[in-house]
Amino acid sequence: MSIAESAVAPATTDAAADVRVISHWINGAERASGSGRTAPVFNPATGVVSARVALADQAEIDEAIASAVAGFQVWKGYSIARRQSVLFSFRELLNARKRELAEIITAEHGKVLSDAMGEILRGQEVVELATGFPHLIKGAFSENASTGIDVYSLKQPLGVVGIISPFNFPAMVPMWFFPIAIAAGNAVILKPSEKDPSAALWLAELWKEAGLPDGVFTVLQGDKLAVDGLLTSPEVQSISFVGSTPIAQYIYETASRHGKRVQALGGAKNHMLVLPDADLDLVADQAVNAGYGAAGERCMAISVVLAVEPVADDLIAKIQDRIGKLKIGNGAGVDGVEPDMGPLITDVHRDKVSSYVDIAEADGARIVVDGRGYTVAGLEDGFFFGPTLIDDIPTTSRAYQEEIFGPVLSVVRVSSYDEGLELINSGQFGNGTAIFTNDGGAARRFQNEVEVGMIGINVPIPVPVAYHSFGGWKQSLFGDAKAYGVHGFDFFTREKAITSRWLDPASHGGINLGFPQN
Ligand code: NAD
Repeated sequence: MSIAESAVAPATTDAAADVRVISHWINGAERASGSGRTAPVFNPATGVVSARVALADQAEIDEAIASAVAGFQVWKGYSIARRQSVLFSFRELLNARKRELAEIITAEHGKVLSDAMGEILRGQEVVELATGFPHLIKGAFSENASTGIDVYSLKQPLGVVGIISPFNFPAMVPMWFFPIAIAAGNAVILKPSEKDPSAALWLAELWKEAGLPDGVFTVLQGDKLAVDGLLTSPEVQSISFVGSTPIAQYIYETASRHGKRVQALGGAKNHMLVLPDADLDLVADQAVNAGYGAAGERCMAISVVLAVEPVADDLIAKIQDRIGKLKIGNGAGVDGVEPDMGPLITDVHRDKVSSYVDIAEADGARIVVDGRGYTVAGLEDGFFFGPTLIDDIPTTSRAYQEEIFGPVLSVVRVSSYDEGLELINSGQFGNGTAIFTNDGGAARRFQNEVEVGMIGINVPIPVPVAYHSFGGWKQSLFGDAKAYGVHGFDFFTREKAITSRWLDPASHGGINLGFPQN
């Protein structure tokens, strides 16, 4: 039975809850958990517990790591050509069957199907980049660096590498890392979010079909215990983390203390700066797309519009008009018709989003469109929250300063470009930002002056393509290695420099205790 089929048919049953238990993928096969600990997995559109996910115990963590250590020994012996052919097969299978994966994502995350397909496509880009790995991991050679001496470098895999991913992109975020890690010769242990754990298993099965040896791609389901097991194991050489800022910082500090390479990408609060010369219809379209797409559960979502006066009133009216036309419902669609926006991931998260709107209101903001208490007919138990628009939010409010991670767009009215820039640069995060203007000089100034890692110029969600790298500044990225692109290949390899001389009588200088002279 494929993972896609098992997404609807029980594989193993949790006697207490009588629902399917989603478990690990260890040594090239599904591995039922014996930990006795599980967490619920919801269909967020219906609010129903669709399955439970196993939470690994120490024995399962150890088994996963041991299998990855063994897998690495096999995989590192594969020639470049053989590795490349596995990658090409994986890409072909993914491309042919991505709709299955999209359906799994929508069922557990809630995002609309076309958005789930988009997420997979952005991950597939990285797979495609990784197929060209021979060029990106080949070393360099300097002939005759000194007389009769050649110097060259090799890029070798690290060994077993850990990936810990968030709920909001259950396929794309792991794919930011694992295609490159595997191409470079490493064995991967992926610890997906316990909120939507099935996509990782589907990907594991696809790797198996593509010919990847057992143990090279492992899925370890779990919570903090599994994460800490990876952070502290001497066998795990590196950690790639994406999630909220407090956890990113914890991951960075703990894994570094245990001698690992770490890249830890954190949260965000992305601003869109709108100059008075911008096309307000274009801005309103993009603010709605970037603010409410995936119900705002994107680390590159726009959550604040900085409107340089006098445009705020017009812009707010245009955004409000567009919000009124959005369709909200089950991301899977009804009779082939998809809504614009699905539910939030859990009721707990929905309530947290709602509490931020309460905070904004208490702090004196004007709630222009209120999504609190939103329900969808026939899906009253789903975790829906309506698109929300807030005007005049005080910049001292926690609702302005903190990440909300929901369909809540706030407007701050500013009097100048400089005032807007100052607000962006004084925030704790530095993931993404965008400027909307027709003034090339202003845009050029912005890209130079703004303290943010990814910048859009008339582009609201500037996620870099696979051959550039993804990463923010400040509290949005701990460590110095960004995801994918050249950064990815550097992160997942370590270099050796070799200085070599093949002795012959003419080049051998005899005894000389000093540094060699030219
Ligand atoms: P999260 O931090 O709650 O969880 C991320 C991962 O960490 C999960 O696998 C989870 O099981 C694990 N985890 C959670 N608590 C832990 C703990 N105490 N100890 C050890 N591990 C723990 O994040 P989330 O809610 O799944 O995802 C949303 C967050 O991710 C948002 O803040 C969003 O901005 C961020 N995000 C950032 C990027 C980026 O590129 N910067 C991309 C996507 C998401």
